[in-house]
Amino acid sequence: NRVQIQQAERVKLIGEMAASVAHEIKNPLTIVMGFTQILKGDKNLTEKQHSSLQLIDSELNRAQKIIYDYLSLAKTNEKDFERLNCVEVIENVIDVTKYHAQISGVEIINQTNGNFIVRANRNELTQVFLNMIKNAVESIDGSGQVIVSTQQVGKYLQVTIIDNGKGMDEEDVNSLGTPYFTTKENGTGLGMMVCFKIIDSLKGEINVTSIKGEGTTFKITLPLADEE
Ligand code: ADP
Ligand code: MG
Repeated sequence: NRVQIQQAERVKLIGEMAASVAHEIKNPLTIVMGFTQILKGDKNLTEKQHSSLQLIDSELNRAQKIIYDYLSLAKTNEKDFERLNCVEVIENVIDVTKYHAQISGVEIINQTNGNFIVRANRNELTQVFLNMIKNAVESIDGSGQVIVSTQQVGKYLQVTIIDNGKGMDEEDVNSLGTPYFTTKENGTGLGMMVCFKIIDSLKGEINVTSIKGEGTTFKITLPLADEE
């Protein structure tokens, strides 16, 4: 009915608004963070100035995290979907995350292969795999593995992300995607919300199975594009 449609449109508008604000804030924030680093290197700072800068720095970091988890939504108003090989998008994400993961003792094993064409926005799809692979890496305390694989299931592509991290109990699993739900000290709790929103808009699905203390498996199912 009409009222519901208006409500849905309002929600969409707020999302787009928040996203474009996030996008605009990204550059000035990066600059301020850079100058904060320079100031922190000053040898003549008083104790008080130093601790103030420390606080500025950690708050800036927090703001930046929120913006990074949220930025993808900036693209939703453009909705420029294209035909993409999903495997290529995942490989790019693994390339940018594997170095950081390795430093913290996590090996990302890439078992994706093939040519799986989906209709999507490249930035949005990148954001989904970035958020979810980062979550998998962050769930591992010490050394461990994240395995990313792809398989075709009928007219769908299924991407599986397995980690042997800390896992989740039922309550955590049910809270996934709720804005601001986080169990991390420096988490934003926005990453999974963004993932669900994007995958939903692509008529896909995210399924999760998790065992506390053993690990988690996420399955992302996406409709394959029709042949051209
Ligand atoms: P954030 O990463 O900022 O905490 P997310 O929305 O990305 O926010 O994730 C929300 C929460 O879901 C995380 O804090 C964590 O508790 C849980 N979570 C997500 N992915 C995993 C995973 N692979 N293993 C264990 N817990 C996870
Ligand atoms: Mg996250």
